[in-house]
Amino acid sequence: MRYAETGYNLEIDLTRGNIERVATNPEDSQLYLGGLGTNAKIIWDRVPPEVEAFSPNNLLIFAAGLLCGTPATGCNRTIVTTISPMTQLLAFSMMGGFWAPELKYAGYDKVILRGKSPDLVYIWIKDDKVEIRDASHLRGKGAIETAKLICEELKEPKAQVAAIGAAGENRVYFASIEQGRSSASRGGIGAVMGDKGVKAIVVRGTKDIHLARPAEYMQLCDEVMEYIKFRNANPIPGVMPILAILGSPQEMKVHDEKWHTENFMWGNSRERRKGFWTDQVAEDWKQTMDQMRTRLISCYNCPMTCGATISPPGKSTYMMKCFSKLTYTMAAFSDLAFGLGIAQAATEHGVDGFSAPQVMAFALELLEAGILSKDDFPGLPDDSEGRFYWLLDHIVHRKGIGDILANGTYWAAKQIGNGAEAYAHNNIKKQEQLPLKLSMLNPIYFLMYATGEKMNITQIEGQFPQAPFPTREEREAFVKDWFQVPDEKFKQYFLDWEGRGDNSIPYYPTPSMCCDIVDWQERMHYIDDALGMCAGLSSFPLKPPYHIHNYPKLISSGAGFDMDEASLTKAAKRYRTLVRAINTRRGMRRIDEKPPANHWKKRFPELEKELLDTYYAFKGWNEQGIPTEETLRDLGLDYVYEEFVKRGVYADEGEASSQATPAETGKEV
Ligand code: SF4
Repeated sequence: MRYAETGYNLEIDLTRGNIERVATNPEDSQLYLGGLGTNAKIIWDRVPPEVEAFSPNNLLIFAAGLLCGTPATGCNRTIVTTISPMTQLLAFSMMGGFWAPELKYAGYDKVILRGKSPDLVYIWIKDDKVEIRDASHLRGKGAIETAKLICEELKEPKAQVAAIGAAGENRVYFASIEQGRSSASRGGIGAVMGDKGVKAIVVRGTKDIHLARPAEYMQLCDEVMEYIKFRNANPIPGVMPILAILGSPQEMKVHDEKWHTENFMWGNSRERRKGFWTDQVAEDWKQTMDQMRTRLISCYNCPMTCGATISPPGKSTYMMKCFSKLTYTMAAFSDLAFGLGIAQAATEHGVDGFSAPQVMAFALELLEAGILSKDDFPGLPDDSEGRFYWLLDHIVHRKGIGDILANGTYWAAKQIGNGAEAYAHNNIKKQEQLPLKLSMLNPIYFLMYATGEKMNITQIEGQFPQAPFPTREEREAFVKDWFQVPDEKFKQYFLDWEGRGDNSIPYYPTPSMCCDIVDWQERMHYIDDALGMCAGLSSFPLKPPYHIHNYPKLISSGAGFDMDEASLTKAAKRYRTLVRAINTRRGMRRIDEKPPANHWKKRFPELEKELLDTYYAFKGWNEQGIPTEETLRDLGLDYVYEEFVKRGVYADEGEASSQATPAETGKEV
C-alpha cells in the first residue's frame, strides 16, 4: 500500500500516441520525496545535457507534490519540470489551483510527456481512462477560453484544465501554462508544451488517497489550521503588509500600493518612481479595483483567498495573480484599469507576467535609443498603452520584430546587436529577473540571486526578515515566539542585526551567517516544492504554519516513511544538489552566478567573492560551484559523481560556462 502518493505515473509518448500507467519505486519517494525531488531524478536519468528544450527527447513533467490532495491546508501545487528554452537549464515552475489534487484523485502522481505530437492535441484523464484527443479546433484560442470549451465539450464542468495560449503554441520563450486560478510561468515551460503539440491536459479524478496514520495526520492538520487563524488575527508588526500575514491576499484586498509602486523598478527601467502614489492615484485605483474585482478566491483546500476574479469592461473574466496587478501598469507608465485589462489578454495568451512587461519595455527603449527603428514597428500606436497591446500581439504570434522579442531580452539583444545588449541589463542565467535596482549590496540577497536556480527571487526568499528592525526592543519582541527557526542561533543573528554601524549590511550578517540564512530559506522552498505545499503558507512568509519541526511528522504520518528533521534536511539537500548537478552537467559554472551589474549601486567585489567562496564551501561545492565527490557520495548521489568524472566535468575551469551549453553547441543524442 502506498500512502499520500498513488505510486503510479502516467507516461505519454506523443510521437507514437502511446499511453502507459507505470508503477513507481517507493524507495525514490524516501530519497527524493516527490514533486520536484522525483522530477529531478527523472530528468537526470532520462534527459542528457545534449538534449535541448525543443527536442522530442526533452521531457515535460507535471507532478503533484507528495502530500497534495491530502487534508493538509494549502497543499495543492503542481510542479512542472523540463529543460527551459530560455536558459537551456532546468526549469521548475509551480502552480496552485486545483489541478494537482485532481491528478492524485485520478490515480497518478505525475504526467510525463515525451516526444512530439504531429497534430495539436489535448490529453483527457478521467481516472483510469486516458485519451489523446484532437485539439485542432482550439488552435490560437486563449488558455482560459480553451479550458471553458473543453469542459463544455466533455460535459465535465468539474474537470481541471492546464492549458497554453497562443504564446505556448508559438514557442515564446516566456510562455506560461495557465490553469484557471494559477499559472506556472517561469522558464518558458508553456513553450515546451506547445512544442510537444499539447494544448491542454484535462483531469478529473474520483478516487481516494490513503494516509498511513490518519488520526495523527488530521491532528497535525488541525494544529496548522489553528495557527493560520492565529497568524491571520495577529499580523507581524513593523513589516510591509505582504510579510505581515500569510499567503498574498493583500494584493487583491488592500488598496494601498505606495510601497510597491514607489520602491520597485518596473518594466526595464533603472529608476524608481518616487512620488508616484498620490491621493488621486490611490482613489482612482481603489475605484478601479472595486469595479473590476468580482470575487475573492482561493486555491484547493485553503481559506486564504489570495486570488481574485477580475472582469474588465468588454473582456471575459479571468483570475488575477498577485504580482501581475502591477507589472504591466507600471511598465507602461499607465493606470490600474489598463493593467487589469492587458493582464486579461496576457493570461489568455499565456505569458509570464514577470518577463513579458520587461521585454515590451526593452523593445520600446531600443526604439527610443535608435537601436531599432520605426520600420521595425509598422503600425505601432503613439500612446504607451496601445504600444503595449501591439507588442503583446506581435510577441505571442511571433509577428515581425515580435519573433525576436519572443526569445526574451537576453537572446533578442544578441540577435539585434548594435548595442542592444546593454539594454538587457536585468538577466541572471539568461532570464529576466525582478527589475530591482537598489542602493547597498545585501549579502543575503546577493547569494540568493547568484546561486538560485529557481529563476524567481520571491520563490527563494522568506523565513528570515528582509531587513533589521529599528530597535532592539522590536527585535526582542519578534524572536520571542519565533519557534520556526531550525536553530536558536538564527535568533541571535537577527537580534544583533542593526540598520547602521558595524552590524549592518553589507558586512553583517557575516558570510558564514549568510550561508546559514540562505540555506535555511532555500531548504524550506525546496521542501515545499517536493511536498506540493504553497510557499505562501510555508517558505515565503515570516513565522509560517509549516516549518522544519512539523514537516517530518506530516510526512511520517501521511506518507508512512519515517522522517525526522535531520533526514528531511538531508533528503532536501539530496534533490537540491541533484538540481544543481543537472545544471552543472548542462554547463552552468561560477561565471553564470552573477546578479546584474546594476542591481545594487554600491558593490563590494572582494566581499562578493568571499560570500560566494564561503557559500560554495558550505554547500559542499567546489570553487566552480560543482558538487564535490565527498558531497555527492554523502548524499548517495554516487551515480552523479561517476557521470561527472566520465564527462570531465571537474576538469572544466568554467571559462565556457552555460553561455555555450552542450545543448547549444553539441550534437543531440
Ligand atoms: S495561501 Fe493563497 S496562494 Fe497559497 S494555497 Fe492558499 S489561496 Fe492559494
